[in-house]
Amino acid sequence: MIVVMQPQAKARAISDVIAHITAAGYDAHLSEFEGRTFIAVVGESAVPLDAAAYAAMPGVERIDSSSPPYMLASRAAHPQNSLVPLNGARVGGQKVLVIAGPCSVEGRSEIIETACAVKEAGAAALRGGAFKPRTSPYSFQGHGEKGLQWLAEAREKTGLPVVTEVMDPALVPLVCQYADVLQIGARNMQNFTLLNAVGLSQHTVLLKRGMSSTIEDLLMAAEYILAHGNTRVMLCERGIRTFERATRNTFDLNAVPVLKNLTHLPVLADPSHAVGMREYVPAVALAAVAAGADGLLVEVHLDPDRAVSDGRQSLTPAAFAKLMEQVRRVAEAVGRTA
Ligand code: PEP
Ligand code: MN
Repeated sequence: MIVVMQPQAKARAISDVIAHITAAGYDAHLSEFEGRTFIAVVGESAVPLDAAAYAAMPGVERIDSSSPPYMLASRAAHPQNSLVPLNGARVGGQKVLVIAGPCSVEGRSEIIETACAVKEAGAAALRGGAFKPRTSPYSFQGHGEKGLQWLAEAREKTGLPVVTEVMDPALVPLVCQYADVLQIGARNMQNFTLLNAVGLSQHTVLLKRGMSSTIEDLLMAAEYILAHGNTRVMLCERGIRTFERATRNTFDLNAVPVLKNLTHLPVLADPSHAVGMREYVPAVALAAVAAGADGLLVEVHLDPDRAVSDGRQSLTPAAFAKLMEQVRRVAEAVGRTA
């Protein structure tokens, strides 16, 4: 249930509604839209919600009885796009923002040189994994804290904010010390302990869709983070598993407009992990922008054939610069900038 207050509702009327909700054992989450306060009622309680009683309270305009399971992520509770600050811009706004960098942070000079190259091409943030979720325990697992330090040095040199994955709830405080954005990888999308930890951290989160997860599963995962009052959450479609084997995963283009419709959270697309082959990355990246994606996550490596992970899907800096030019043109064609 959502209580929509009148535009001129007094602060006292709003706090009375909140007090009523919490006294009944629920939680109240507020958002503003067109001068109105929307109060989303979430949680479980033995006390039934009496919509008519709320409708009769002073300052209440109407009751919206729709109750999507992902209440806080829904547009019903929060009609306006959420804008997530990144590098002086806001993801979810007019500008399409691109996050780029290697799959794994491989070394100090490599990450600094890559950061300079992607910045030059117009990237808004630097990505790179220091803790890597590898399918094989024998594959390179990342440089850990040393990798985080190199990322921070690259940020110092370029001014680009850093996006990096955290896999362990116990390491959230450490990764927060270095990262501007905590990435939750596809394999951890339903690691609820981790979602709670990043929610509590109040740090900006990039939540990737699990490869076998539905759009609703993704929104429910976002709900875990939002339930802690952390509203700086970006979603990312990164391809799902289907019967198709010609590409690494199948990019769910549908997810972009569907998510934009269902949620106020910014929606990014990762064409690199979606297709797994660099020759297809630009086409899928441009399709995502045309479909309404608020940003891209693109793997870029100085020498893709020598990358320790995901070289096959990584663009060279030159290919990335060319893609950025195309992204600008497609963004303009759909009324945005890049
Ligand atoms: C990544 O972005 O480096 C990554 C491992 O992606 P995903 O979690 O989508 O597989
Ligand atoms: Mn990768």
